[in-house]
Amino acid sequence: MWNLIWRKRIQKMNNRNNNYVIIDIDDVLAATVPEWLKRYNRKYKDSLKMSYVRDWNISKYTVPECGDKIYDLLESKTFYNKVKPLPNALEGVGKLRELGFPIVYVTGGKPEYSTYKFKWLQKHNFWNQNDHYVQTSSKHLIKGVLMIDDNYDNICNTSAFGLLMDAPWNSKFEFKNRVMGWHEIIQNIDEYKENFL
Ligand SMILES: [Mg+2]
Repeated sequence: MWNLIWRKRIQKMNNRNNNYVIIDIDDVLAATVPEWLKRYNRKYKDSLKMSYVRDWNISKYTVPECGDKIYDLLESKTFYNKVKPLPNALEGVGKLRELGFPIVYVTGGKPEYSTYKFKWLQKHNFWNQNDHYVQTSSKHLIKGVLMIDDNYDNICNTSAFGLLMDAPWNSKFEFKNRVMGWHEIIQNIDEYKENFL
């Protein structure tokens, strides 16, 4: 008897806790790479375009005197001041929330600078009081039903249903559930839901 009650309770708890939508921030909600390249090109007098970046390791495309130092450009308190939200992103997150999915923003980067990214979410109205914010590059640690990310490895390593946000750095991968932008997610959410509900 008690066994059955507990089993039901656990089931209920699992159902409630498992329907998170895991949303990446950089280049899913925020146009991070365009601002990054602007800063890089200005500092190193280069003309690197986003469309040339065909690999996750952006340092492959920088001038020799820069190399890995391109990552240092992200270590700035003001970086996110100029970063714009991507089209339809706010509407898309609102739609997911409206459908009853708790939102968990999961983002990599250095913890010291995470606070500026969080402030960016607030500034652009992405942050609601019931949302969650997690700073980690090991995104597979986070449980959820749906993940939206532009990093192919994150999408492959999650147990959630993954939607790969199209970007030049992931275009070499064959992936069925690639989306061209939030307009597609908004349009097809009912169809995607069949895969995880
Ligand atoms: Mg990203």
